[in-house]
Amino acid sequence: MLFSTRPKEDRKDLYDREKEIEMIKDSIFRGEWTAVLGIRRIGKSSVVNVSVKESGSIPIYVNLTRLNTTKKKQYDKASFLSLLLESTNLTIRNYTFLGKISRIISNIVGLEEVDFSSLKVKGKLKKIDTKDLSYLFLELDRLAKDNRKKVTIVLDEAQELSKIAGINFPSLFHDIYEECNNTVVIFTGSMIRILESTLKDIEYQEPFFGRYIRKITLERFTKDQSEDFLTKGFEEEGISVDKQIIDEAVQKLDGIPGWLTIFGSEYSFAVKHGQKPRIDDIVSKAEEEAKSEAKNFLENSQSPLRYSAIILALDRLGGTGELKEIKKVSSTILDEEIPEPRVYELLNRLVDYTLVEKIDDKYSLPTDEPNRKGIV
Ligand code: ADP
Ligand code: MG
Repeated sequence: MLFSTRPKEDRKDLYDREKEIEMIKDSIFRGEWTAVLGIRRIGKSSVVNVSVKESGSIPIYVNLTRLNTTKKKQYDKASFLSLLLESTNLTIRNYTFLGKISRIISNIVGLEEVDFSSLKVKGKLKKIDTKDLSYLFLELDRLAKDNRKKVTIVLDEAQELSKIAGINFPSLFHDIYEECNNTVVIFTGSMIRILESTLKDIEYQEPFFGRYIRKITLERFTKDQSEDFLTKGFEEEGISVDKQIIDEAVQKLDGIPGWLTIFGSEYSFAVKHGQKPRIDDIVSKAEEEAKSEAKNFLENSQSPLRYSAIILALDRLGGTGELKEIKKVSSTILDEEIPEPRVYELLNRLVDYTLVEKIDDKYSLPTDEPNRKGIV
């Protein structure tokens, strides 16, 4: 069903994205590492799911948003390790020939028993280094190869890798890239700029240096595609909807498949149960989500007050300002002198998170075009 609100698994439930799926499948086939970039709810997980499934490779999905942060707003190594082992273990169950991996995992953590369901390793953890992880992937690769299979490791929301302390990723990825000829890594991420810079850090550091990660960006649906998507979806649901309502939804939901899907699903549900559906409810949900994402970023940063002061300063300056002005106003707001290079650094970070836009020497709060409001 086009309007099913979970990430899609099958191509029949997915609207378009044919080109992207072929590119990802081709990359898996050729062993080219790939990053799939795109804002939240654009369809990254769905497109990757379908591509990996159709590629016939063994999938290991690692959802990095499930890591637990420490007080220092970083993730610890143990949390990453448990997540990785749990994700691997989930896959192993479906492939009997991978059974041996469970023993290797127990050996790596130095324990008889690993409780994957609660993401915890019981007892005291052996000191694990990057080489242990490389060994795990090497074994996976070898067992898969013996069974004429490829392995695809999907690192979902991979910008989070930059917050994991104590693991040398350029080294781990180098080992996987060089020694696991049947293994491909796919990165996805919603924080596009952050993921790009995380990947750059990996690509430009020895020993990974010199290897390339292909980038595929998922764009919003065009107006025509949005309209066609909704029309086909409603047909599938067996309900007829006025063109005017479809036009309004297309205009307000701005080509984001996830919001179009929720609209389609909620609208169909309401109509079928004799209720009056409202597009604006969905739009407010989208705005709330964008706001809470920004809030979450600010709260999890090292300097929430300074970030907030900068955003407030921009607001007081009418939405746009140059570095010097922003420094002056934000220092006044906080009643504390923030050095200009620090303001510059914080501003660029906000630009990375798309909370602020930069054009030439001017910084601005994102514009509130009627059809973009809050959803970006
Ligand atoms: P992301 O991983 O980018 O946040 P998801 O793959 O989770 O996005 O998709 C968000 C929502 O939108 C899901 O409900 C999914 O079913 C739907 N969706 C995304 N892209 C499409 C598409 N091309 N066709 C149909 N539904 C889609
Ligand atoms: Mg996703």
